[in-house]
Amino acid sequence: ATLSMASNVETMKRKGNSISIDDGRKKPRIIVQQRKSLPIATVEKELVEKVQNNQTLIIVGETGSGKTTQLPQYLFDAGFCRDGKVIGITQPRRVAAVTIAKRVAEECDVQLGQRVGYSIRFDDMTSGSTRIKYMTDGLLLREALLDPFLSKYSVIIVDEAHERTIHTDVLLGLLKKVQKVRSEYQKVGTVKTNDGPLSGKENGAQSASFLKLCQGVKFPPLKLIIMSASLDPRMFSEYFGDASYVYIRGRQFPVNIYYTQHAESDYVDAAIITIFQIHLEEGPGDILVFLTGQEEIEAVEGLIQERIRQLPAGNQKLVAVPIYSSLPSDQQMKVFMPVPDGFRKVILATNIAETSVTIPGIMYVIDPGLVKARTYNQQTGVESLVVVPTSKTQAVQRSGRAGREGPGKCFRIYPENEFAKLADSTVPEIKRCNLSNVVLQLKALGVDDIVGFDFMEKPSRISIKKSLEELLLLGALTDDYKLSDPIGHQMATLPLDPMYGKALIVASQFNCLEEMLITVAMLSVESIFYRPREKLEESRIAMKHFSSPEGDHITLINVYRSSDEFLEKIRIGSSKNKILKNLRKWCEENFINSRSLRHARDIHSQIRRHVEQMGLCIASCGDDMLSFRRCLAASFFLNAALRQPEGTYRALANGQVVQIHPFSVLFQAKPVCIIFNELVRTNNNYIRNVTRIDPLWLPELAPQYYANKVEISGT
Ligand code: ADP
Ligand code: MG
Repeated sequence: ATLSMASNVETMKRKGNSISIDDGRKKPRIIVQQRKSLPIATVEKELVEKVQNNQTLIIVGETGSGKTTQLPQYLFDAGFCRDGKVIGITQPRRVAAVTIAKRVAEECDVQLGQRVGYSIRFDDMTSGSTRIKYMTDGLLLREALLDPFLSKYSVIIVDEAHERTIHTDVLLGLLKKVQKVRSEYQKVGTVKTNDGPLSGKENGAQSASFLKLCQGVKFPPLKLIIMSASLDPRMFSEYFGDASYVYIRGRQFPVNIYYTQHAESDYVDAAIITIFQIHLEEGPGDILVFLTGQEEIEAVEGLIQERIRQLPAGNQKLVAVPIYSSLPSDQQMKVFMPVPDGFRKVILATNIAETSVTIPGIMYVIDPGLVKARTYNQQTGVESLVVVPTSKTQAVQRSGRAGREGPGKCFRIYPENEFAKLADSTVPEIKRCNLSNVVLQLKALGVDDIVGFDFMEKPSRISIKKSLEELLLLGALTDDYKLSDPIGHQMATLPLDPMYGKALIVASQFNCLEEMLITVAMLSVESIFYRPREKLEESRIAMKHFSSPEGDHITLINVYRSSDEFLEKIRIGSSKNKILKNLRKWCEENFINSRSLRHARDIHSQIRRHVEQMGLCIASCGDDMLSFRRCLAASFFLNAALRQPEGTYRALANGQVVQIHPFSVLFQAKPVCIIFNELVRTNNNYIRNVTRIDPLWLPELAPQYYANKVEISGT
């Protein structure tokens, strides 16, 4: 498939001054210059005044204009952190929170974790002296569980609001309430509310617990700033009682857009061809390629390396650097590092590079026009990850990344007439995902009436109802839909999906929490097994060493335990670097994805700490995998499926027809009854992470759900 540069549509004609980004960072003087040259720098004073004069402010500015990195510093300098208060900035994505905090720490010339820090799930880089705190939107929601008034913050900046992640939407509702209560406190010195900002009983007497919360806490009014790249600010403005909004102009050079002549059957291949066409035929400048996820990025990384080796020595100066959310954080900053003189960098990114992070030096963008998104089937209540076409807004954002420092080029790997068919913008996540997680959190925050909650856009009643039912079945709610004690509270405390939280609690009763901790950690990362296209057979053989006839969960435990044993052997007397290097080699030999494994090991130690704090009993079932499988059945009973005569499966919860994914160890065996953890929709409904169970366990271990299901109790 060759890519022809058919049409030549010029978009985005606004011009501005050229800036030269010097890659020799670490030199504060250059950083000072860079900061001054950002578009936002010219309006620092006005912005600070706006924030001072408005309770809520909406800021719309082009990507790369300096909103995320600069505004918090301006506010810090303007005294918004007096009395030890903190400026919080939320991001939808982990990588953005981490890389931007690192950059800002560098700009402020402070150590990361001191004045500037970040906090994301499973990784906290803050201290008592942190004043500018980057975090994920999900994390701030969790903080509200412990500190319902978010009392340590003077300013909260909700960044990337246009993304409309489910956490952003819930957070906006929460912040609106908190802001109101805090300004009431400001007026009268006390707040008339019963037990928290969200209880809705605003006229009740002050409860003892609330007074205790207020004791010694001085609430400054809460400043809210909603920030985004491309959005219509009116909707946000209306939601926040006609809040003011400002635009920050960016600079944008023209970007030529090229399309393919025909639809490409293999966009990965077409992308690689385009990378090398640019590399061999175009002038200097780095390339940014938008891909859908870790697995795809790693495959492309491998293919690029292979092609480079086939080039004549003089043409080999190309370096591929990946960036995606589960990349170990010490590797994330590599995209910002300069490459040696004469080399060209090709950045392989998920849509993290669309608006969240701006990487200097990009002149070429390759956009297959796809993105991995959560979708939710309202009827079945099942959520899955699907690769879908981007919206027009996303496509325009992506191409814009090529024109930040000079005129650029964007290659869309689809025909021009496809562009017109794209949706204008993306549907907010709250309308297309499973709500169980946020419903649980809202309940824990004291919001009992979920339907009545002041969402900017209400999720459908039916999906709220589905989530309430699911939480009821998991035992997180009582019959009258209140948070149950202790299970509901414990589940809300764990930074995990309700089903995984439940699994840990159940496992402590089945004496196999050791095994479940490993399982949940391994399930929390993408693709533990490394399966390069050109070595599929070898990787299949390597996987056999670990595979268990009982299913993928135990197979994952085997991988984890083998890595434990290996580390045990080499640990003594080795430096940390040496251990890492050896682990990487071990992973390579065993076709294990070392990045994923490291990430899983990290998550494991974090959740282990959580369950220890909760006082759960951490025991191992040893070789008794029968009780572990029973525990899986008791935890994931909502994801059980029965084999049908033709070899497909029928999900018991909703009748959906599904198939075991070819990568599962049970792909051939096809046992009668299974539980699974993930549904991937491509042309088929594939289920991944599958384990064999006995169908009779279901009515025994989950009678609340299966007692009356004839098909099960009958067999
Ligand atoms: P916005 O939020 O308006 O999109 P940012 O504040 O994220 O803009 O980025 C402002 C500038 O800072 C950009 O030019 C970007 O390239 C630069 N920048 C951000 N992070 C880094 C980093 N880690 N290394 C080098 N430059 C960075
Ligand atoms: Mg930003």
